[in-house]
Amino acid sequence: MSQTTLKKYKKGEIVFRTHDEGDCAYIIDSGRVQIFTENFGVEVAVSTLGPGEIFGEMAILDHSTRSASARALEDLQVSIVSRTQFQQRMDIADPIVRLLVSILLKRMRDNLGVDKHQISEKHQLDAQESHSKVIDKIKFEAELFEALMDQSFLLYFQPIVCAETFKAMGFEALIRWQSESRGMVRPDLFMGVAEETSLIVPIGKWVFEKACESLRSFQNFLASKSNATRQDIFLAVNISGKQFSDINFFHMLETIPQKYGIKESHLKLEITEKILLEGNIFFYWIEKCRSMGFPVSLDDFGTGYSMLSYLSDFNVDTIKIDQSFVRKLEQEPKARIIVQAIISIAKGLNVEVVAEGVETEKQAIILRELGCNYLQGYFFGRPVPYQETLTYLEKNL
Ligand code: C2E
Ligand code: CA
Ligand code: CA
Repeated sequence: MSQTTLKKYKKGEIVFRTHDEGDCAYIIDSGRVQIFTENFGVEVAVSTLGPGEIFGEMAILDHSTRSASARALEDLQVSIVSRTQFQQRMDIADPIVRLLVSILLKRMRDNLGVDKHQISEKHQLDAQESHSKVIDKIKFEAELFEALMDQSFLLYFQPIVCAETFKAMGFEALIRWQSESRGMVRPDLFMGVAEETSLIVPIGKWVFEKACESLRSFQNFLASKSNATRQDIFLAVNISGKQFSDINFFHMLETIPQKYGIKESHLKLEITEKILLEGNIFFYWIEKCRSMGFPVSLDDFGTGYSMLSYLSDFNVDTIKIDQSFVRKLEQEPKARIIVQAIISIAKGLNVEVVAEGVETEKQAIILRELGCNYLQGYFFGRPVPYQETLTYLEKNL
């Protein structure tokens, strides 16, 4: 980390001239500075700056040479800020903030009449490329926001079956975005952006409400069938870490199921193992959900880094073994040993086990033999929209 250093200039002394290399900026501690340009030998004053003000910052932001000159109007003391110091801060800034800074910078340079050739060509190209990426991202965010307003999201449902009977005991609710320009967009492509922005909060709320509404009608449907073997199917809903920090989150958990007459025990909250890496506050939130009556599932189990320690630190009701293990089950004996160990630990801790991504009958049989409680995957059914879910239920009463 580079240090800020002090430097003194005598009255009338030049701090830098137009076209000098610019590798630092200056904060004025005492004295005044005149910024000026020179056209055909004629000096034109641009501004006068005093204590607390900064100058020479433009060159260190876009790697160009100085676009004006600076002269001490009085005896001057400045603190010098190196390019690395600035760069480190810019690197961690939000991409949109970086874009705004560079747009402002360009406008200022245009106003000063700076020739673009002073900025290295490579730097210009890099900047253009990252601009277009950031602009794409801003557009994507705007579209996502519109999707929320236009209600272009859909909830799909994928069966979760009993490992013994292969009968659906519940479903996982999975979001889809039906975009006019992009077609049906899968959540991996937009939930990340929704999470980076605060859009995940209203989207998550929409999912939760839609899930309760759908579960109500699935249960009504089963109740209307005299030959149905069960009425108490559950719905698993994915919750992103960011939703917990929304002040209305727990209020939502309290009120929406009530509105649809849904028992908390029929709504499983799925939380990915990865969010636990973000801090202990999640342990508290998970316990709060459980104390309200919601079963909590640890999703993508085995993809985090210290999965076993999580199980000793707090209580969950279910773990979902990640698809990556299931996929290897038939070929790799090691995968079977790991899955077996996970299941035996879970059993010992009274935690139910769901295996995800079951695509073949053979995988299903192995998982049943190993003692999995529930199975989920294309072998039993892909995620489908509401109507098809009713059809599935009808066939699997
Ligand atoms: P996830 O929670 O792990 O969901 C399981 C994903 O695996 C789903 O992808 C599902 O379609 C897919 N899948 C299920 N069975 C199989 C199979 O047999 N083979 C293969 N190859 N894939 C299978 P999907 O629907 O694209 O969702 C991706 C991820 O997006 C989800 O992973 C979840 O993390 C997130 N997501 C989806 N809906 C929501 C939501 O409403 N809220 C939040 N916060 N995240 C969501
Ligand atoms: Ca999930
Ligand atoms: Ca998963």
